[in-house]
Amino acid sequence: MEITQEAETGTSPEIVDVKHEIPHQRPGGSDPLEASYRALFAAFDDDASGQLSRQELVERLAKAGILEDDPRMRETLIAARKGDGSEGLDFAEFVSLIQNSSGLVRRVAEDNLVIPDFAEFAAEIDDIHRELLPETGGAVADYIPQLARVDPDQFAIAICTVDGQRHVVGDAHSRFCVQSVSKTVSYCLALEEHGPDKVHQHVGREPSGVSFNELTLNKKGRPHNPLINAGAIMSCALIRPDADLAERFDHVSKAWSRLAAGRPVGFHNSVYLSERETADRNFALGYSMREQRAFPEGTDLVQTLEFYFQNCAIELDAEMLAIVAATFADGGICPLTGERVFATQTVQHCLSLMSSCGMYDFSGEFAFSIGLPAKSGVSGALMVVVPGLMGICVWSPRLDEHGNSVRGIEFCRKLVERYSVHPHDSAEGQTVKRDLRRHKSQTNSEAVAILCWAAAEGDLHAIRVLAAAGADLSTANYDGRTPLHLAATEGQVNVVKYLLTRGVDATAVDRWGGTPLMDAERRGHDEVVALLRAADGARP
Ligand code: GLN
Repeated sequence: MEITQEAETGTSPEIVDVKHEIPHQRPGGSDPLEASYRALFAAFDDDASGQLSRQELVERLAKAGILEDDPRMRETLIAARKGDGSEGLDFAEFVSLIQNSSGLVRRVAEDNLVIPDFAEFAAEIDDIHRELLPETGGAVADYIPQLARVDPDQFAIAICTVDGQRHVVGDAHSRFCVQSVSKTVSYCLALEEHGPDKVHQHVGREPSGVSFNELTLNKKGRPHNPLINAGAIMSCALIRPDADLAERFDHVSKAWSRLAAGRPVGFHNSVYLSERETADRNFALGYSMREQRAFPEGTDLVQTLEFYFQNCAIELDAEMLAIVAATFADGGICPLTGERVFATQTVQHCLSLMSSCGMYDFSGEFAFSIGLPAKSGVSGALMVVVPGLMGICVWSPRLDEHGNSVRGIEFCRKLVERYSVHPHDSAEGQTVKRDLRRHKSQTNSEAVAILCWAAAEGDLHAIRVLAAAGADLSTANYDGRTPLHLAATEGQVNVVKYLLTRGVDATAVDRWGGTPLMDAERRGHDEVVALLRAADGARP
């Protein structure tokens, strides 16, 4: 048995028998592996024709968010196009095709990816995009002249989960400069090279409470944190200081590309030149740090600043930045390639600082209302990480007074309103909001199961929480048993009282024709019997 790379990543617990014999060669169908492949084939072959078109396969995968250009599917999909131009796959061809990606295909068939109802989530993202299009508040950054030329109406949202499920809407393929979002990757690279102890001799870990380019250092004469300008200039000073500038830049852009599943990143030369020409503030920050001896020995200040401006001018699109964010969400492993780009610890440190310092002097407010690690840039880019679940990029150039994308912030508000992604959502909140990791049906049947269990146990608190979240207290399980049946059977007087005051049907009949009253009588729970008789008598 061989553990595939996918299994190593930890995102796909499945261990795949990739080297197993092709099962169709065994007659009789008794091999459990063959049976599972047959079930898989049937799950894709909607019309039960025994033939699966490449199109059917592509569409089914796409619904789950696994797109045609996914590197994990590349070989399978190329092979699915037959040499003679025809496209049908029979069972045997299907089996030999999916052997390299069967873990992924199987999980799609079983709706077993981290966001099982992905198509529904994607539709919701489209809705949010539509709702936010009329929002034209804010203004594009103009302190870097070349940035001011961007079309302010552009707007993209892109999602990538830790299982590599992707969705984009809007201008997701227009390129933009990462600007301050580069500070995350520069910090990670500095950490990977020197470790946190050395890095934090040169830069603090506290929010500054002031704007990103404020002329201020902490009490020790160090930048407050790596996610504002002074701190990011310091990270740049720490990245391969002995190499020449070309090598250092290659090193950074390669890291970006690996974070984005190997896609090449670009560079916006005129933004770089424009920023360099108008960089008095960043020079002032640099000199003030040099005055405080904050830099490592031998740092060339002008070269460090140039390197910083170059990092800010790295270009990618929203789809790529969402993949980068997903790599952060998955602890440093890129979901689409399975490659570990950064150590788990590195990513953890970066996410911690993104949570407290990623949104300039709005960081505290953002942590309060959204709670997710995020980083914004003056190009209107916003990278949001839902650890263990997904990465998000919102790009919309109009900024608020803090320098954060107006639509980006609004998107986050809408996201946490609808889904339980705020890390401090209460149990109650989680039942009001949708849990992206669960099927809707699973959520409903779980609510019924919890209600029935809580009623039988007499756990009134759990029932109240579910009721507050809008659960239907009269709901019945597969056997037609309602919470009232269970509470009556177990003699849970307080629960029976509560359910009756909430107006549940006291005469509900289970699949054996039994009512709660009959249950209570059979078990001799006299107090419950009295309550149920009174309730029945009180009925009009
Ligand atoms: N390059 C920009 C600067 O140094 C980055 C700032 C930002 O995105 N907030 O001013």
